[in-house]
Amino acid sequence: MKYVIVTGGVMSGLGKGITAASMGRILKNKGYDVTAIKIDPYINIDAGTMSPFQHGEVFVLKDGGEADLDLGNYERFLDIELTREHNITTGKVYQTVINKERRGDYLGKTVQIIPHVTNEIKERLRNVAKSSKAQICLVEVGGTVGDIESMPFLEAVRQLHNEEETEDVVFIHVTLVPMDPQGEQKTKPTQHSVKELRQLGLHPDMIVTRCKMPVLPGTKEKIALFCDVPAKAVISAHDAEDIYMVPQRLENEGAADYLLSKLGLKSKDDSKEWDRMVEKMRSTSGSVDVAVVGKYTDLEDSYLSIRESLKHAGIEVGCKVNAFWLDAEDFEKEPGSIDNLSKYDGILVPGGFGVRGTEGKISAIQYAREHNKPYLGLCLGMQTAVIEFARNVLGYEDANSSELAATDHPVIDLLPEQEGVVDMGATMRLGDYFAELTPGSLANKLYGSDAIIERHRHRYEVNPKYIDEMEKAGMKFTGRNKNRMEIAEIPEHRFFFASQFHPEFKSRPNRPSPPFLGFVRAMFDKNN
Ligand code: GLN
Repeated sequence: MKYVIVTGGVMSGLGKGITAASMGRILKNKGYDVTAIKIDPYINIDAGTMSPFQHGEVFVLKDGGEADLDLGNYERFLDIELTREHNITTGKVYQTVINKERRGDYLGKTVQIIPHVTNEIKERLRNVAKSSKAQICLVEVGGTVGDIESMPFLEAVRQLHNEEETEDVVFIHVTLVPMDPQGEQKTKPTQHSVKELRQLGLHPDMIVTRCKMPVLPGTKEKIALFCDVPAKAVISAHDAEDIYMVPQRLENEGAADYLLSKLGLKSKDDSKEWDRMVEKMRSTSGSVDVAVVGKYTDLEDSYLSIRESLKHAGIEVGCKVNAFWLDAEDFEKEPGSIDNLSKYDGILVPGGFGVRGTEGKISAIQYAREHNKPYLGLCLGMQTAVIEFARNVLGYEDANSSELAATDHPVIDLLPEQEGVVDMGATMRLGDYFAELTPGSLANKLYGSDAIIERHRHRYEVNPKYIDEMEKAGMKFTGRNKNRMEIAEIPEHRFFFASQFHPEFKSRPNRPSPPFLGFVRAMFDKNN
């Protein structure tokens, strides 16, 4: 097993995750199976209880793990499916260590960060790497070198490096090269951050520099000299037009060859699959505008997988998809503004929790349904579509979800198995579940299959009591998991598709999610 360990310096938000995922991709292009582990030094057990306002989207894995959004980047760049074990947090590590201590596993010893916590970290890294059956395991250490939280993890990877063969563990450090007002590239932050790393006993094999402009040869040489690496090990990862262009950028800088030589490996392939996808993305013509009516619209990353899924579908259809993030609450404050939706080619309502913004979402869905605008609803976006239909077509004015209000018509109700659940962490209906699709339905056509598996994250569902009535009135439930409704569609409508699951988690740059593809196609066909 080869480990490529990625650390970050200077500041957060440098795109360390994208850099790591891109490194993985170029190694995959050379014929290696690559897996990835993300270390998050926070105390939370997982990202499931964290607000997308603060931390970006919660990415759901096939086994129901609720993880950091970087896991989504790894799945998309490497075209793999990961499990919860691939996201290691301080919370998980300490929970195990404390459980072991309570069981008496440490045989009377004083339990300490070194060796007990660091051993636990190494054991997890090795077990996950091994059970993935990959040849190369990327390990991204979250946070910035120097943070108190990440210390035990950095110490653990230092030990790992010592215990494994030298060429089996390689370190990449991602830093920032800012420019002064005269446009000169500054290396001091990088020097300081590498110094910090070396104080911890870690020596980077490669330094990836993030910069607005290409990092100049002189700058690279200076970094090489002060940070004790060859100049060819200093890689310029200057801003790219799109994240999917980063692998090529790194490749052109010679990163793949250098990494392989450091790992003692030879190139086995030269796959152009990724390049072809990027070429397709570059050569799109025309565009569609989609209104995403949500709640967490201030932070770009809150709906990351949706943004990427729209892009994937656009690549396949051959058009650019411009997403406009609209705050649902604005439609509540100013009901007349709903007509602004006329300028978009389609409307998407994403998942969410809590009552805030839901009335605005319901108005947007009503607009989509009544104006025959393509509509895609995801999770809460399906639940609110059902509420809208019950109110405005069936005439149940007070129809609602029991999550959102007390009502005589709970068309969306708590999943029976959720009764009595008190803990918030990891207790939803999570991860992969199958659905059977109605022959001849839109769902059936989009997926080209009678049964599908998609990922879930919810506590509420369509109340079975209302199904017959809804279907008679024109909303069909064409994807079902036994008596659980997974898909709602309105066949009379141009494109009205809503799912209880989250198709955005399985979309890939060269394999778009079928509902997204259908949605983008419906928007594009209208224009052309
Ligand atoms: N809040 C809703 C539920 O728990 C929808 C969840 C979601 O959109 N992910 O069922």
